[in-house]
Amino acid sequence: MTKLRLAIIGAGPAGIYAADLVRKAERSFDVSIDLFERLPAPYGLVRYGVAPDHPRIKGIISALREVLDRGDIRFFGNVEYGVDITLDDLKRHYNAVIFATGSTKDASLDIPGIDLPGSYGAADFVSWYDGHPDVPREWPLDAKEVAVIGNGNVALDVARILAKHADDLLPTEIPDNVYEGLKASPVTDVHVFGRRGPAQVRFTPLELRELGEVHDVDMILYDEDFDYDEASKTAIATNKQVLVIDRVLQQWRKRPAGTASRRLHLHFYAKPLEIVGNGKVEAFRWERTEPDGAGGVRGTDEIREIPVQAVYRAVGYFGSPLPGVPFDERRGVIPNREGQVIDDADEPVNGVYATGWIKRGPVGLIGHTKSDAMETLQHVLSDQPNWWTPSEPQEEAIPALLEARGVPYTTIDGWHRLDSHELAIGEAVGRTRIKVVPREDMTRISRAS
Ligand SMILES: Cc1cc2nc3c(=O)[nH]c(=O)nc-3n(C[C@H](O)[C@H](O)[C@H](O)COP(=O)(O)OP(=O)(O)OC[C@H]3O[C@@H](n4cnc5c(N)ncnc54)[C@H](O)[C@@H]3O)c2cc1C
Repeated sequence: MTKLRLAIIGAGPAGIYAADLVRKAERSFDVSIDLFERLPAPYGLVRYGVAPDHPRIKGIISALREVLDRGDIRFFGNVEYGVDITLDDLKRHYNAVIFATGSTKDASLDIPGIDLPGSYGAADFVSWYDGHPDVPREWPLDAKEVAVIGNGNVALDVARILAKHADDLLPTEIPDNVYEGLKASPVTDVHVFGRRGPAQVRFTPLELRELGEVHDVDMILYDEDFDYDEASKTAIATNKQVLVIDRVLQQWRKRPAGTASRRLHLHFYAKPLEIVGNGKVEAFRWERTEPDGAGGVRGTDEIREIPVQAVYRAVGYFGSPLPGVPFDERRGVIPNREGQVIDDADEPVNGVYATGWIKRGPVGLIGHTKSDAMETLQHVLSDQPNWWTPSEPQEEAIPALLEARGVPYTTIDGWHRLDSHELAIGEAVGRTRIKVVPREDMTRISRAS
């Protein structure tokens, strides 16, 4: 064996870091890597999840781009595993595959009314405002009062984008349809609900602090949420992150009542019970909880309700099963041991590996996908006796296969064309970039030579 032919499925940070680290790893054989991505453009949730008003984080794309621009990893965009290319194809052409397909769907929240018109998953809304090609162009932003369920960073992203004035998002890369939609929004009050207390939230201090800096939006907190129990006091005293979060919240509590045209309310100790409505969302009902003394909460039987016309649930993401690959239905991940995929009997599935959110679930920042990839690739590289033996390992076989199937795949040069196009249409109107949204347009621009 002189060469490892490796397929990686998914060109989000996990897939790109894995490709980069395999190339750089010390090894006694050559490698040749093909990266397949369902979308015409690379970068996964960095392009289609990270909020548009987080340019610093979006800037991670530059580092990922450097890896792809090096020219030693082939990128095939617009190629969906399970549709355009199958596990049998991979076995015919590669020694091994790493799945890095992430988690793109909303986790479910099983409460009455969750399917009412006006009740949305955060993942869908995020995809809309980040210009994902596979979601509708229009988003019904007609609610004056909105509830956001969840106490993680995605809940804060959704609440911030809903509350922010569209003109304040104009310097970002938001597509025109998103700007127009947000500009017409009549929203006045966005209410964020978390089941536990301020000392148990899952968002990070930086994301929280940012809310207090949004133009013409007042932060509203409620005194009843700040009667800390011993467990909360201990958390604040012993955990730096919790301490900073508490400081930020306490500063906001001291602010004089504001006069902004929009308000962002943070409600704690609120367990979602029901989305109330007759044919559409009309109210959000919750049960007030209280600390249980051990860092958790218990119900109080006190039921409350607030009128809202839309509800967004930001209760986590969930992975999707892939044809021919084991899947843990409960956790929404590919079952694995340190990245080596395992079957129902806990046995390794030869040649099949996983990394990123589809490996360990939808938690953690982009940086975590790097350490993740490092762990996975150790198994890939040391597992040579168990790799597949492909009958057609030649690199030319892949473009030939895709062309024979009529798959309009995109390449890294194609991404450069699309990237330059987005920068140019942005520059023409004094913005840094405007994203192209329709898949056909992305593909056409990428494939124009
Ligand atoms: C709303 C939101 C905001 C976030 N903001 C931040 C932030 O500010 N800072 C931060 O550090 N982290 C942030 N994160 C977390 C960060 O996005 C993740 O840690 C990271 O993207 C996970 O990387 P991944 O490669 O595993 O998954 P992804 O980024 O989801 O990449 C997976 C890729 O696989 C592709 N794919 C899926 N199925 C297939 C298939 N069948 N065939 C081919 N390709 C496929 C997808 O299209 C996608 O491009 C945020 C996450 C979300 C959801």
